[in-house]
Amino acid sequence: MAPTASNTTSSSAIDPREKKLDVPGQHKAAIFDKKGGPVSVRTVPVARELKHGEALVRVIYSGVCHTDLHAMLGDWPLDNKLPLVGGHEGAGVVVALGEGAEEFVKIGDRVGIKWIADSCLKCDFCRRGFEPNCPEAQCSGFTVDGSFQQYAVSYARHLSPIPDSLPLDQAAPILCAGVTVYKALKEAQLTPGQFVAIPGAGGGLGHLAVQYAVAAGYRVIAIDTGNDKRALAEKLGAETFIDFKTTKNLVEEIKQASGGLGPHAAVVAASGAAAYEQALDYIRSRGTLVAVGLPGGTDIKANVFFTVFRSLRIVGSYVGNRQDAVEALDIAARGKVRTSFKTLGLSELPKVYEDMNSGKIAGRIVLDIDK
Ligand SMILES: [Zn+2]
Ligand SMILES: [Zn+2]
Repeated sequence: MAPTASNTTSSSAIDPREKKLDVPGQHKAAIFDKKGGPVSVRTVPVARELKHGEALVRVIYSGVCHTDLHAMLGDWPLDNKLPLVGGHEGAGVVVALGEGAEEFVKIGDRVGIKWIADSCLKCDFCRRGFEPNCPEAQCSGFTVDGSFQQYAVSYARHLSPIPDSLPLDQAAPILCAGVTVYKALKEAQLTPGQFVAIPGAGGGLGHLAVQYAVAAGYRVIAIDTGNDKRALAEKLGAETFIDFKTTKNLVEEIKQASGGLGPHAAVVAASGAAAYEQALDYIRSRGTLVAVGLPGGTDIKANVFFTVFRSLRIVGSYVGNRQDAVEALDIAARGKVRTSFKTLGLSELPKVYEDMNSGKIAGRIVLDIDK
């Protein structure tokens, strides 16, 4: 998928709407009532009572992720809340606090609502920083209502602070897409100067992965197809671009691009098995395949002999924790990572899902929640 528009930062990073902290009685929310949808935008009451630790966020922008479509279609091996307000790339400001929430955020803070809405912070996983694996983790726009609404209740301790220099529309896609690829690159455990292959480098996740990898000092082998994606990948700092449609031997060409041995890691977010299995062929011995993204029904086949003989690592990377989100937003705020996206209104969400389902969405969509 190619990003369709490159948005430039407006003169001020602060949206005038960030200064309006009053809470109306009613607001707009995109809701679906049953598995399979449809989703509709309705006017509903704003949550009046906040429980301990909750904050009310005035959402101004929210990215749309493929996961939101999976949640509506119900095609994952997991159950979600119904009826549901989707969305987990919300960017806005805190407008009200429940008891205890003031320990973490204050009114007027610019914050992000990410996929992990909450976790216990006490279990073995949380203590070690693996908050996404907490058995009590709540997910925004899945087990709790998310960011496709003007006023969203979320958990103060898991809100992500958004730096003042980062516009909220730029911040939104970082909260899932950006953090996800940033975390996946961390899981590859590379050092500066090592090679990483990124299939789908011109796509929604891929173009962010290229930039985070370049920012970390890795040498990027971008894999995608077409001149537009080549131009984008090269502009973002990829060292080599390999067109998978025109190459005679993808595995050999990737190995050649990394001195003959193959890259030290591949970060693969494809929905089909082929890209993962190819990566097992082209990464060098002791290399790491990082599987990221969440296709519900894809199995990958790894040969045991060569996995052992070549000492390969196959790692699943889910999403980031609170610290990963802070780091990913900070890198974006310093201009090292820019998201390409197209802005539409919340009212256009049903059409976005329709187009996403038929593969017609190229690049990230960010919704202006007021429109
Ligand atoms: Zn997502
Ligand atoms: Zn926990």
